[in-house]
Amino acid sequence: MEVSFAKEARMLRKGAGEVFHGEGILAITKALLQSGVAYVGGYQGAPVSHLLDVLVQSKDYLAELGVHVEPCANEASAAAMLGASIHYPLRGAVTWKSIVGTNVAADALSNLSSPGVKGGALIIVGEDYGEGASVIQERTYAFALKSSLLLLDPRPELAHMVRIVEHAFALSEASSMPAVLTLRIRACHVRGTFECRDNVAPAVSTRHLLDDPAAFDYGKLAHPPVTFAQEKRKSGERIPAARRYIVDHALNERIGGTRGDVGIVVQGGLFNSLVRAAAQFGLADVLGECALSTLVLNVVYPLVPEEIAEFCRGKRAVLVVEEGQPEFIEQDIAATLRRAGVSTPLCGKDMLPHAGEYTVEVIARGLAAFLAKHAPEIALDDGNAWLAATARRRDDAAQALGAPLPARPPQFCIGCPERPVFAALKLAQQDIGPVHVAADIGCHAFATFEPFSMGHSILGYGMSLASRAGVSPMMKRRTLAVMGDGGFWHNGLLTGVQSALFNGDDAVLLIMKNGYTSATGTQEIISTPAEDDRMHAADKAQSRVHDNQVIEKTLRGIGVAWLRIVDSYDVSKMRATLDEAFTTDFAGLKVIVAEGECQLERQRRVKPWRAQQLADRKRVVRVKYGVDEDTCSGDHSCIRLSGCPTLSVKPSSDPLRVDPVATVLDGCVGCGLCGSNAHAASLCPSFYRAEVIHNPSWRDRLVARVRETAIGWMQR
Ligand code: SF4
Ligand code: SF4
Repeated sequence: MEVSFAKEARMLRKGAGEVFHGEGILAITKALLQSGVAYVGGYQGAPVSHLLDVLVQSKDYLAELGVHVEPCANEASAAAMLGASIHYPLRGAVTWKSIVGTNVAADALSNLSSPGVKGGALIIVGEDYGEGASVIQERTYAFALKSSLLLLDPRPELAHMVRIVEHAFALSEASSMPAVLTLRIRACHVRGTFECRDNVAPAVSTRHLLDDPAAFDYGKLAHPPVTFAQEKRKSGERIPAARRYIVDHALNERIGGTRGDVGIVVQGGLFNSLVRAAAQFGLADVLGECALSTLVLNVVYPLVPEEIAEFCRGKRAVLVVEEGQPEFIEQDIAATLRRAGVSTPLCGKDMLPHAGEYTVEVIARGLAAFLAKHAPEIALDDGNAWLAATARRRDDAAQALGAPLPARPPQFCIGCPERPVFAALKLAQQDIGPVHVAADIGCHAFATFEPFSMGHSILGYGMSLASRAGVSPMMKRRTLAVMGDGGFWHNGLLTGVQSALFNGDDAVLLIMKNGYTSATGTQEIISTPAEDDRMHAADKAQSRVHDNQVIEKTLRGIGVAWLRIVDSYDVSKMRATLDEAFTTDFAGLKVIVAEGECQLERQRRVKPWRAQQLADRKRVVRVKYGVDEDTCSGDHSCIRLSGCPTLSVKPSSDPLRVDPVATVLDGCVGCGLCGSNAHAASLCPSFYRAEVIHNPSWRDRLVARVRETAIGWMQR
């Protein structure tokens, strides 16, 4: 990874009394070190990638503390890492993106929570739910319920989040339950300040090793018959112990209560939005003071029945602000109140939506409905006026535009090596007919948008080849599975390749070998080119992904007999290879490895290198593509085939031409796709390739002068 987290790494070293200022996710990372964590693992994914990225780049400092850090192959291996805390007094933390990562980790999580833990085990999940989410809209709550995991959802304020992380380890140890700390996107990025404590070097660590393994204890295995006793212990011992700890350390907070005798129960992570909503009605201020009686659940599972009953007793009504569906917390509270004989009316999903993110506006609407019904003496005029103005602004904007704004789907970066492969696939389908495309998670999923619109299904990370297994036998034409190198190592090798080989499947697998898990932040994987190759190559602009052949060796080793390696940018060759894969008599698994380094990562390396070269007044050549507007036929098939954001249109300077002509904007990184496409698809010959030479040599100047003279002579 070419991104440096040196500044963040320095923040982790802060000691007692120093002030930390930054984002929520970095505060959580610091809190792990203040809690004496002994090992950290995980699989990157928004919005928690930063945690692992920073720790991986802080390995030297972690080694000083004796903390082991390990980027795992997938979330299942990260969850399994927590097995260290079953026998040993080791505090461990792992991280991943939920809900997808939690799905992958589910088996290990069950097997961890059944025997329970001795050292505190903390799983920090990015709860990718809501407006900015990039995955299926489900919540982690169901996993906490079914596997008896503690679930913490801290109020997004840095000092408080740090406190909750430190308690999470102790809570896990007090109850033997692994703890999950769920962080919404906003909580990860909220900025703030807290006073640091010293980092704690763990007692058992990579510097202070265990003398011997723990004694054999069958009771620590998730294996019958002890699983029956473990299941009883969850409800009989662990959850009661957790509840005692939650009450003793006041992990849930009572806030406000000066206005009305109605109450709000809110997930901690939603507290800031609740306060902003209440502020519109004059019931809170921007500093977080809330006049409504509020129970902030920083631990959302397990709930403490006595705490809930006491909070609700005697109130006119209580509103539960719980994002997502089903309404686990609301149902739990309803059952608690019924058992305790508390008859306070309970509201929640009858006033707030079942699905979608609880933004300030959404909460404000629910709050207005709740207060109008149960606290009619509270004036709602200001809040209702704000809601009406918000709706009016939206309507006015829609009217002014005359039509909804055009969708702006995400797409490949400029010069991405995966774009040419889909251009080739478009052309190949002109030769062989349409094919079923099993898509996958990764940057290549951008091909599901215009101008490619390819991909019939996405069943999970690394699952494309497996997901076409039921389709292939039913289809006259062969099917295509697309997978990135990240997906290949995460799951695809075992779930897809191994299964297809074992079953003798006749299918085509296309692996995008760009050298990184690009979609999650260009983290390195086992097939990433060695750093020396990347950083000390004579020309740092050069792609080095071919130097690492571990994917190809693995495929050959496992028995793939039909394997082709093709340069991603060579559209003609890729088209011909796809044609061959779909028509060959070879009936087994055919794998095409498309090689081309992630352009984002390449540019991160190239730009500073180029800037340094220029500063040193050295010769630098930049390749740019352009369109000769006299030759441009105006059909724009180049744009439909490429989709590169720097390939655009402009008015023709010829007054006799009314249609716009194609043009290449400034951002062109000279990937060469324009030329390759024009060649492979026999487009109009309007593209030209130019070399912009900075600090030219005498030879460059001489060649340029000769060319100018010759061209001038021909033009005359
Ligand atoms: S991050 Fe890399 S692989 Fe992903 S779209 Fe950008 S250039 Fe392509
Ligand atoms: S060569 Fe074409 S496809 Fe490549 S970056 Fe430039 S405009 Fe985009």
